[in-house]
Amino acid sequence: MTVNLLDFDLPAMEAWFASIGEKPFRARQVMRWVHRAGVTGIGQMTDLSRGLRESLEAAAQILPPAVKLDSVAPDGTRKWLLDVGAGNGIETVFIPEAARGTLCISSQVGCALECAFCSTGRQGFSRNLSVGEIIGQLWLANRALGADHAVGHRPVTNVVMMGMGEPLANFDAVVSAMRIMLDDHTYGMSRRRVTLSTSGMVPWMDRLRDALPVSLAVSLHAPNDELRDRLVPINRKWPLKELLAACRRYVEVASAAPDDDDAGAEPESPPRHVKWQRQGAPRDFITFEYVMLRGVNDTAVHAHQLVGLVGDLSCKFNLIPFNPFPDAGFERSTPEAILRFQGVLMEAGFVTTVRKTRGQEIDGACGQLAGQVQDRTRRAQRREQVVVRS
Ligand code: SAH
Ligand code: SF4
Repeated sequence: MTVNLLDFDLPAMEAWFASIGEKPFRARQVMRWVHRAGVTGIGQMTDLSRGLRESLEAAAQILPPAVKLDSVAPDGTRKWLLDVGAGNGIETVFIPEAARGTLCISSQVGCALECAFCSTGRQGFSRNLSVGEIIGQLWLANRALGADHAVGHRPVTNVVMMGMGEPLANFDAVVSAMRIMLDDHTYGMSRRRVTLSTSGMVPWMDRLRDALPVSLAVSLHAPNDELRDRLVPINRKWPLKELLAACRRYVEVASAAPDDDDAGAEPESPPRHVKWQRQGAPRDFITFEYVMLRGVNDTAVHAHQLVGLVGDLSCKFNLIPFNPFPDAGFERSTPEAILRFQGVLMEAGFVTTVRKTRGQEIDGACGQLAGQVQDRTRRAQRREQVVVRS
C-alpha cells in the first residue's frame, strides 16, 4: 500500500524515510517539494536521484482531496467543495481582503457537538479528517490561487480553523497539520496567523497551549451558563468558570514568549530560541466569538453580563451576525442591536469587531458549510422521529 505524503509532518516524514531505509534528511527536502513547490508527483522532485525517485514512486503519492465544486462570489470569496469519500463533502473558503488572504479550513466531516445555531452541528458527525485532508486544503488553495514561493506570491497569509468541525476534537491530526503550516521549510506561517477556533474543550485547550500555542478563538456566544448550556451544549461539561480559567492559562503562555510582528524574511535555519521569536508568540489575548441571535443573546443586559464575566482577561470580541439556514429556529440580530451590543463592550474598553458577511452567494459564510454528511449518529433520523411523535 502506498502512503500519502500529505499525511506527514516533518517528524512523521523522517520516521517514514527511516522505515524504508532512506536517509531521514531527505524528509525536509521532500517536504519542501510537496508544500513549498506544490508538486503533484514525485517525478517532479528533480534534485532527488533517479533511484530515490523510483523507490519513492513505488511507495508513496501526493493525494489531496478531490475538488467537486469550485465557486467564486462577486466579492472574491472562493469556496471549494471537496470530496472525502463515502459521499462526504467538506468545504474550504478563501476570503481575500486588502492586506491579507484568509483560508478557512475544516477539521472534521460534520461535528458531534450540536450547537443549536450551527448548520454543521445539525448534520451530525461522520469522522475526523486525516492530516492529509486538513493540510491538503491549504495545499489545494495555494495551487488554485497561483501561489509561487520562488517569487514570494503567497495569497494565503492567514489560516483559521473555523470550517466544519471542532478542531480540538481531532487534536492530533489538527496539531500535525498546523505544524506543517508553521514549518519554515513549507508554508512558514507565524503562530499569530494561524487561528484555531474552539467551542471550549477545556482539557484540549491546555494541551494545545503546551503543544502548539497558536492564536486562539473561543466560541462564547452567551454570558451565563444557563443560556450557554442551551446554545453550546458542551458547556454542560465544561461550564464558563472552567472555560474562562483555561483562557487565562492560555494567554499566560504568550506573556512568557517574546512578541513578533511577522516582519522580515526568515533565515533558513535559525537557532531554536531565535526561531521561537521569529515564528511569533501566540497572540497575548483570546478572541471571543459571539454569534448575534435576535432576542436570544443580544440585549444590552447580555453585553453588560459579558463584561462582568471576562473581567480583566486580555481579550477581544468578534460579533458574528447569525447566518440563517433552513429550519434554524433563530434569526439574525438587527443591525441596531448589534451596534448597541458592540457599544457596551467598546465602552468597557474591549476591542470589538463585527464580522462582515462574505460570499453569501456561494454559501461561503462561516457556519454555513452545508452539504449532507453521512451521519454516523443518525441525528437527522432521531429528529424526524421526534417530530412525527409530537
Ligand atoms: N467548532 C469550532 C470551529 C468551527 S465554527 C467552534 O465552534 O468554534 C466557527 C464559528 O462559526 C464558531 O464561532 C461558530 O459558533 C460559528 N457559527 C456556527 N454556526 C453559525 C451560524 N449559523 N451563524 C454564525 N456563526 C456560526
Ligand atoms: Fe461544532 Fe463549532 Fe458547529 Fe458547535 S459551532 S456544532 S462546535 S462546528
